Amino acid sequence: MPRFDQSHPSNAVGPWFVDTRCIRCDAARNWAPGLIGMDEMGRSVIVSQPVAPEQEAAMWRAAAACPTKSIGNLEQPVEPAGIFLTLSPTACSLWAATRSHPSPRILTW
Ligand code: SF4
Repeated sequence: MPRFDQSHPSNAVGPWFVDTRCIRCDAARNWAPGLIGMDEMGRSVIVSQPVAPEQEAAMWRAAAACPTKSIGNLEQPVEPAGIFLTLSPTACSLWAATRSHPSPRILTW
C-alpha cells in the first residue's frame, strides 16, 4: 500500500505520489516516462501529474508494476475498472509478468 505519510517531498503537486520506500528498480520510470522521474539518489518521484487518459493509464501501469507498492493516488486509491484495456498486447504481457512476480502461477485446464 502506498504510504502518503512517507511521500517524496519533491513530488509534483497533485493526487499522484511516490513514497520514499522506492528501491530504485526503474520499473515505474519505464511504464510512465515523462511523468515519473528520478531524484539525485535514484528514487522515483512524480515530475508531472497525468492529464490525458493515456497518461492516467500509464500511471496505473507503473503503480501495478511497482514491487514496493510505492505509487499511489490520493483521490482514487484503487485502479479504475477497465484501465488496463488501453494496453497494447505487448504491454499486457509485461503487465501480467510483473503482476505474477516473484512466483508466477502456471494455469492449466
Ligand atoms: S517501480 Fe516502485 S520501487 Fe521501482 S523505481 Fe518505481 S517507485 Fe521505485
